[in-house]
Formats: sequence, C-alpha cells, structure tokens
Amino acid sequence: VQAVFRSNLSHLLELMGSGKESLIFMKKRTRRFTAQWTKAAKHLAQKLGDARRDQKQILVHIGFLTEESGDVFSPRVLKGGPLGEMVQWADILAALYVLGHSLRITVSLKELQSNLGVPPGRGNCPLTVPLPFDLIYTDYHGLQQMKQHMGLSFKKYRCRIRVIDTFGTEPAYNHEEYATLHGYRTNWGYWNLNPKQFMTMFPHTPDNSFMGFVSEELNETEKQLIKDSKASNMAVVYGKEASIWKLQGKEKFLAILNKYMEIHGTVYYESQRPPEVPAFVKNHGLLPQPEFQQLLRKAKLFIGFGFPYEGPAPLEAIANGCIFLQSRFSPPHSSLNHEFFRGKPTSREVFSQHPYAENFIGKPHVWTVDYNNSEEFEAAIKAIMNTQVDPYLPYEYTCTGMLERIHAYIQHQDFCVGPSPVPSGAHTSQSPFVLAPNATHLEWAQNISSVAGAWPPTHSLRAWLAAPGRACTDACLDHGLVCEPSFFPYLNSQDAFLKLQVPCDSTEWEMHHLYPAFAHPGQECYLQKEPLLFSCAGASTKYQRLCPCRDFLKGQVALCQGCL
Ligand code: UDP
Repeated sequence: VQAVFRSNLSHLLELMGSGKESLIFMKKRTRRFTAQWTKAAKHLAQKLGDARRDQKQILVHIGFLTEESGDVFSPRVLKGGPLGEMVQWADILAALYVLGHSLRITVSLKELQSNLGVPPGRGNCPLTVPLPFDLIYTDYHGLQQMKQHMGLSFKKYRCRIRVIDTFGTEPAYNHEEYATLHGYRTNWGYWNLNPKQFMTMFPHTPDNSFMGFVSEELNETEKQLIKDSKASNMAVVYGKEASIWKLQGKEKFLAILNKYMEIHGTVYYESQRPPEVPAFVKNHGLLPQPEFQQLLRKAKLFIGFGFPYEGPAPLEAIANGCIFLQSRFSPPHSSLNHEFFRGKPTSREVFSQHPYAENFIGKPHVWTVDYNNSEEFEAAIKAIMNTQVDPYLPYEYTCTGMLERIHAYIQHQDFCVGPSPVPSGAHTSQSPFVLAPNATHLEWAQNISSVAGAWPPTHSLRAWLAAPGRACTDACLDHGLVCEPSFFPYLNSQDAFLKLQVPCDSTEWEMHHLYPAFAHPGQECYLQKEPLLFSCAGASTKYQRLCPCRDFLKGQVALCQGCL
C-alpha cells in the first residue's frame, strides 16, 4: 500500500485515547499544530513529486506513560514536570500520521501485549510470534517491557525498534560486552542495538539519529507584530520547577538582572508563592502552553539558570523573538561530574545549559556567558536590551523540517540488513587523496559513489585523520562537516590507511570504540573488529582517529545534500 499524506488529524486524536493528563496535554498540542502540519505535508508532497512511499505498519509504545513503569509523569504534568518528552511524543505521532502511515498507540502493558499478539501471561513463551509491525517507536522503559514480554521475538525483531532517547546513547555504552569490560555499564545502556536506532531530542551526537520536535513558525506579519510589541525590559526565567531557584550564587546575578529588567517566572505552586522565588519576581505559576507562548512574545529576554538542560523552551523563546541568555559551564557538565547525567549512557560534555542553542543558533539570538563574572553578565544584559532580533526557528525544528527528516529515516534506515558490505572496488578507486595544507590532516576525496543503495549516499563521504586527542564529532565539525558513523566501514581497512598515507608499521584488528585509528608511539594502525562499536564520539591523546565526515543541508544537519 502506498502512503498518502493526511491533512485531517481528528482520527489521530481518537487514536491517542484519553484519560491521562499527559495525553490531554499532547492532544491539545496536536490540535494547535494541525494547520502547520497540514502545510508541511503539502510542502513535502510537492518536494517529493510522485516518488513512491510505502505505508508502514507502526506501533508507538510510550513506555514512560505506562503504569507498569510507574507513570511518573502524568501526575506531574500539571505541576511542571518534564513536559519536553510529551512535546516530542506528540510531534512524533503527528509526523508519522501526517506522512500517511498506519498507527497503533499504546500506553499500557496490556495494550502492548495484545498488539504484539502475545497472550497475557505468556511473555516468556519460547515461540516467535510474527510481528505485525514494520516499525516500533518506544523509549527505554518500553524497550525493557518488550524484552520481558516478547520472548524470542524480541531478538528477532529488535532491528525494527526505534528508541526515543532524549540525551543519546554512545556506542561504547550500547555494546554489552565492551561496556562491561571497560566500565561503560550504566542503568540504560548495553542493548546491542545499532546506535542509529536511538533517536535524540537534539542533534547532539551523530552516532544516534536526530529525531527532534517542532516549534511554532511565524509568518512575516506575525513576526513584525511581535517585534513591535516587545517590552525591552521584560525577562522570563527558564524552568518550571522551584528547585532551579535554589541555585547557589544566583543572588548576585539576579540582583544585577533586577536592576535592568522586570523578572517573570512560570514556577508551579499549589496555594502559596514558592518560597524559593524572590518577592521581586512576578510568578505566573505554570501556564498552559499557549499562554506561555504569549508571555514569550512580550518578553525580550529568556534567561536560563543552568537547569533544566536542553529542553524545548529556549527554542520556543527564540522563535518568539526573545534573546536567550545562558551560563557557560566550565568545567563542562557530564556523567562524570554531574548528578543529572550520572548513569546516562553517554560521556558527552555539556559546555552550557543548552549546547544546541549555543552552537547551532548563537548570537544575536543566544548569549552564553560566565555567570560568576558580574561584569561579563551585566555587560550582556545591557547589550541584549539594545539588540534587535527577529524571531528565528531553525529549519530542522519546523514541521516541514521534521516531516522531511522522519520521511527520510523511514524510507532509508534499515537495521534488519547487516552492515552494508564494502564492495571490493571501493578502496581501489583512482581518485587521489588530497593532502590538506595542514599536514596532520588529510582529506579523502575518493569517489565511491558507486555503492548502490547506501544511505546516506557514499558520494558525500569525506575522510579525515583527526589530530591526537580529537573526537570524530569535533574533527568533522572543524571542517564544516558532520561525522557519519555509517561510513566507518569504508574506512576500516589497511587500504584506507595506505590511501591516507598513514605510515603504519603494523596493523591490528581489535574491539575498540576509537578505531580505526593510528597510534603514535609505535606507528601502529588499528582497525575495528566490531561494527557496533564504530563511534563518532570519543577521543584519546594516544590516537589519531580516522573519521568519516559528510556534508549536511543548511538547517537540517541530519540530512546530507542529496540525501532525501
Ligand atoms: N511550558 C508550559 N508552561 C510553562 C512553561 C513551559 O507549557 O509555564 C512548556 C513549554 O512550552 C515547553 C515545555 O513546557 O514546550 C517543556 O519545557 P522545558 O524546555 O522546560 O523542558 P522540560 O524540562 O520540561 O523537558
């Protein structure tokens, strides 16, 4: 069956069921975005022409909403609990539905079992029941439930699963044996999935797929209206939970901010004013999303105190014409030094509250400063008050951008076939390797576009030998490119080192998340023995890593040029 774009979302709203506070929040959001999704569908339909798209049978199992995993969120929806997850799930559902796929949505174990065809109480039956779905979107909670209740089918069908994973899972943590041997064990990792099956909220690690969410897109008239009605001295504080106001040292910078601006908060409270929030702050309590947007439209500044990390709100603020001010983290926060990240399956270092805002948006919309430095902080406030900005939303966070990305994933990502074999001719192409001006970097301009069916298409591959201690994520960014882990197999050969003129004295195959790499003392070249361990993340001063990079579309880092 061919998938047909949908513009009426009322059937989706029915599919989403009812009752839970979280579902109500999500449905309101879906309703509010209907017009934008419809427009986006038209846009993408035009772009794709009459290219054939198969309709997929898709199960969406939102594990964290099931009672069996504690459903910790639903009761907190009205109290400022993490709404970010719900924003993302609502948008994923809308995108899948608008793309024309056939959807089932489950938020309880019972529904999951009946949809999987597993008889209740027979979770561990040794039979493999045929799976009636081409794709399953779930989260870590759901993954655990499926493992428990699918018996042998889980192993057989896990290649069809996609895991919505806000902060990301690095390959070293994903590979069970390797993680165990090398101390990368966590509460969440060791699933031995293809790392691209994990889908993140921001494009923070190219080892995973970037799923994202959407924010409201304004037309020119609306933008102008917002610009004209901004109160240049109005600031809104990022964060709905009172705990963020307990941050040490905030008195100093709050006092400075208070000199220049009227400070507004949206901190949840029951009957009294939360004691953590100073009296000079105008607290609105937790607002319904549309009212929160209205507040952002009037405000000039959206200010982060360092927590929560990497949520949707700063993007919404910037989309509504605010400037986002946030603190720089020095040293960076990570699972090694911060409670929040502890036990999460990533070593990623976070250099500010919202690295995406800092690195992908930046000035004039985003200012990242040292909050302990009063002069720097005060200068930023003054400068911000005098800076005019237009509302801005990166393309990848528009409905069209998200639709395009999910379409590409569904069309091209297939983890049920093994890693694509490297054709024998791939490394014997006549195209030369180009020696970059900087002698430690070599560019591989080899043309291996002939690898049929590879996605992303191999013509976008650019290989670089990273400097010692440099991760492939960073090495690629240094060249205006992004690391593409699915290209690692093309570099993982003696021939590739030869082409890059790396003087290997000897070559060895080992299991190591930094390989392929060149080790300096000893001039030894190491190749990767375990395809699951190919990793853009990770660095050691001992190694110069061989890195597969690719180009990307402006505003859509998940896709390369010609990737759709
Ligand atoms: N939000 C809201 N009311 C408020 C403040 C925020 O509905 O008073 C919404 C906001 O629009 C955003 C969502 O809460 O989409 C999540 O916000 P945040 O970035 O704080 O992420 P979280 O930490 O909740 O995941």
